[in-house]
Amino acid sequence: MGSVKLEQLTRQFDDGTRGVDRVNLDVADHEFLVLVGPSGCGKTTILRLIAGLDTPDEGRIYIDGDDVTDLAPRDRDVAMVFQNYALYPHMSVQDNIAFPLAMRRVAPAERTRRVRDVAESLGIGDYLTRRPAELSGGQRQRVALARAIVREPRVFLFDEPLSNLDAQVRSMTRAELVRLHRTLGATIIHVTHDQVEAMSMAQRVAVMQKGRIEHCAPPMDVYRSPGTLFTATFLGSPSINQWRGEVRSYERGSGTGTLQKFRGTVSLGVHMMPDTDVVLAVRPEHLRFDVVESGGDATITRVEALGAETLIHATTAADEHLCSRIVSGSAPVVGSKVRCTIEAAHALLFDREGRLAGRGRA
Ligand code: ATP
Repeated sequence: MGSVKLEQLTRQFDDGTRGVDRVNLDVADHEFLVLVGPSGCGKTTILRLIAGLDTPDEGRIYIDGDDVTDLAPRDRDVAMVFQNYALYPHMSVQDNIAFPLAMRRVAPAERTRRVRDVAESLGIGDYLTRRPAELSGGQRQRVALARAIVREPRVFLFDEPLSNLDAQVRSMTRAELVRLHRTLGATIIHVTHDQVEAMSMAQRVAVMQKGRIEHCAPPMDVYRSPGTLFTATFLGSPSINQWRGEVRSYERGSGTGTLQKFRGTVSLGVHMMPDTDVVLAVRPEHLRFDVVESGGDATITRVEALGAETLIHATTAADEHLCSRIVSGSAPVVGSKVRCTIEAAHALLFDREGRLAGRGRA
């Protein structure tokens, strides 16, 4: 299989849009890396550049240490699976899967054997004589995967292959892809805008915004210690709570500071002068609301009992929206005044540029 290295990769379109902007990325051999980010952040463009379907304006692409930047797609030994599967409608499942082998002039008997093996392993062995139109979305998606797998490429590039599936099939297919990754020992770069996919499948997740990679690390590391405020807000549902405020004081020796609107101590990664603007952020599972008779920090606006957990929404006097996630149980009623308590050890502090600058201390 193959490692992939992107060095200062840039793609600027004719209208000046930088679809991909000086991206550096090292994907290890056998790694399952997920590129995640909002629509238009450059995920598909990166895959197309690696596949050779598009040409970078600057930067280099290496596969297994070989510079493939100027190679034709067929010489890169990568297989891409597209969101719409791109199957040939007039061909049977058998011929669709066998197509890349036929292009490489693999002998017919060998072709048949490899197609049967991969189709069996994906549970579509009974459909080889059907046409794509006679299959469900999930089955079509597996045919597209089979067509990529049968080639035994160095690298798989998946462009949102699960987005057309319904929730149940999608969840099953997530598990299947992870199993497939394990059995094939494949290098996979998987693109999605779905954070559940990113969190549940990736060994590392690269969060993208505006053509750049904001943070690349194992999913729980990104969730717990997002490098930027954008990453913190993109991963996690409901979104992380945020308070805008200022540093009130800073103690040089201990590196700790106090913040406006926050009862507790924050250890700051950098020296911050009093009055510096900051954003304090805490996940819903680390925020608690306690009902008070009068005063309070916020008013409960909505309670969502979701079965195993309950989401409680509130609004502050400054019109900030807050959300607390609790294991299902008794929740305050709508209209209650509440005091907010955060688990200080899980609080994150971002500077004016949105970079992680410190964390709370219990
Ligand atoms: P989505 O999740 O919606 O598929 P994406 O993250 O995959 O989005 P890309 O398709 O890579 O995003 O596009 C990145 C940016 O480049 C977008 O702003 C897009 O409009 C722009 N772009 C892509 N292709 C072209 C093109 N051929 N000409 C001009 N701009 C383009």
